[in-house]
Amino acid sequence: MDTAKIIDGKAISAKINEENALEVARLARECNVQPGLAVVLVGEDPASQVYVNMKVKKCHELGIFSDKRVLSKDATMEEVLTLVHELNNDPKINGILVQSPPPPQIDEEKIIAAISPNKDVDCFNAVNVGKMLTGDNSGFLPCTPYGVMQLLKHSGVDACGKHAVVLGRSNIVGKPMMAMLVQKHAGANATVTVCHSRTQNLKEYTRSADILIAAIGIPEFVKGDMIKEGAVVMDVGINRVEADNERGYKLVGDVDYAACAGKASLITPVPGGVGPMTIAMLMDNTIKACKMQNNLI
Ligand code: NDP
Repeated sequence: MDTAKIIDGKAISAKINEENALEVARLARECNVQPGLAVVLVGEDPASQVYVNMKVKKCHELGIFSDKRVLSKDATMEEVLTLVHELNNDPKINGILVQSPPPPQIDEEKIIAAISPNKDVDCFNAVNVGKMLTGDNSGFLPCTPYGVMQLLKHSGVDACGKHAVVLGRSNIVGKPMMAMLVQKHAGANATVTVCHSRTQNLKEYTRSADILIAAIGIPEFVKGDMIKEGAVVMDVGINRVEADNERGYKLVGDVDYAACAGKASLITPVPGGVGPMTIAMLMDNTIKACKMQNNLI
């Protein structure tokens, strides 16, 4: 097999963002509404600050109103819940996200449950998770697996009838990925296997995957001998490893790219693969939330 074709998440997300910017402009022009996203950061975690700022910046680029709220690292549950209730009732805000992970005194589950399902653009709330599972499209889809589905679609990969193997069963990636791939929907309809840390003979499963989705958080875990010739390899992982450069680190995925690129038919790089899609899908969900709340869909 020749070297795999790269799935360019940067280019695909740029196209989706461009279309969404046009849609935001149309909503302003024809409906006199502007989508609004509130991003709540509790504490000073440096990585969370970077993610929050990236989301705010993307809102700005697309013409979406953004409201960044920063609470101190000592904020109480009551303070965070009060803010969530305020945002739930704010008509300028269509989507709310509370950046994960919050400090230890904050019960993330309770915060997620307090976000109005109509504004839960991260799709962490049980109402939206349930809708996703039952195939009810009146809710939202979780941004990272939604981004993977979009990458498959834009790369001409139809998962129908294929064996898709998901490595990882987290609530934010693995489990929703499984649920989305198995739906009786165009682009999905896959036969899905989910693997995790207790899976025995993991390689047997990964080697039979037509589509392999790696989301386990171990740098370069998937080696060349773990994939089938011609497989489509989607790497969700974002891991920092030491590197001999100015920053002292580089980002790698959960897939050993150099080892797998010669064998896969299509592969996502890290960075520049799944990563940029997550924010693009967050913007997409915020626009959908705005339309739903204004009875435009
Ligand atoms: P979690 O740590 O929550 O979950 C990891 C999963 O991998 C668990 O289900 C775990 O199994 C499984 N696992 C761990 N070790 C093994 C192993 N040796 N063999 C098989 N399975 C194993 O991670 P996330 O889902 O949150 O994230 C996964 C990766 O994706 C990370 O690198 C993260 O940075 C990245 N990520 C990227 C995003 C993006 O925007 N592109 C967004 C979110 C995450 P068990 O359940 O048994 O413990």
